[in-house]
Formats: sequence, structure tokens, C-alpha cells
Amino acid sequence: MRSFLRWSAWLCLSLMLWTVAVESTHNHPTQTEASSCSICVAAHSTSPTVSCASCTPVFTTIGLLREEDAVAKAHPDLFDLGIRGPPAEL
Ligand SMILES: [Zn+2]
Repeated sequence: MRSFLRWSAWLCLSLMLWTVAVESTHNHPTQTEASSCSICVAAHSTSPTVSCASCTPVFTTIGLLREEDAVAKAHPDLFDLGIRGPPAEL
């Protein structure tokens, strides 16, 4: 089983390398065949350019940081501690 995986991996790798070699070295006898070949069309097409009117960043102020002093309570209220009264009878 392990040798089968190894041979299939080598087969796939060799097919991929063979395809790359053939695609990069193929040629066409006439220009009309080259214009219909998808590999040649993709190889000779121009690279896409960025067409953006406002590609430069715009830096504006959207707000100001205002610091305020935070004053904590030194003595919390007794009710804030969760102390409750005795249970009421129903
Ligand atoms: Zn071609």
C-alpha cells in the first residue's frame, strides 16, 4: 500500500512537471490558432492595472480625545454591598 502511494505521488508530480514544460514551450504555426489557444491568450494578456480615482489615503480628524478625571467613591453605600433585611413572613 505504501509503495502504491509513493508511485502515485511520483506519477502525479511527473504529470504536473510534464504539463508545465509543454505549456511553456508550445507554439502554433499560425497566428489564428494562437489567438484561440487559452494558454497563449492568458500568457499574452496585459496584467490588470489598478484603476482607482482616489487611491491615496485621506487623513481627516473625526474627533478629539477629551480626558476627564475619574473620581471613585471611597465609601460605597451600604445597599450596594448586597446586604438585605431579614426575610419577611408571608
Ligand atoms: Zn498556445
